[in-house]
Amino acid sequence: MHHSFTPGPVHLFRLGAGTDIAEGLLDFATTNGIEAAWVSYLGAVRRAAFRYYDQEGLEYHDLVVDEHLEVLTGVGNISLLDGKPFLHSHAVFGDSTGKAFGGHIAVGCEVFSLEVRIEVLDGDAPQRAFDGTTGLSLWK
Ligand code: ZN
Repeated sequence: MHHSFTPGPVHLFRLGAGTDIAEGLLDFATTNGIEAAWVSYLGAVRRAAFRYYDQEGLEYHDLVVDEHLEVLTGVGNISLLDGKPFLHSHAVFGDSTGKAFGGHIAVGCEVFSLEVRIEVLDGDAPQRAFDGTTGLSLWK
């Protein structure tokens, strides 16, 4: 699978306190008609919710850290699943002792403040489809 794009507009914005990271990023993409993009962000959350994918059992394990955390780095992309914008994002969080952990972002990350960069990619958006080997919806 290979796609080539022309760089599109780069959006900078902030998600405010109480916003959900996954929902806030996807809302922005949907509202602005973005079908292909690369996403990065940093800031802080009041609570983190993320997932770890078990490559043997082919299922996600949900993890929640109900603490005030730094979002040390977040990365993701927007592509299409069933014709609609779909967010795939991972993030690393840091706690009050400087320890880091993270995973695949789930709904449930409550923002304290988050600075976001979305780089739109102009061209045919990658489409996701179920992949039997991994059990995931991957780029075709
Ligand atoms: Zn993932």
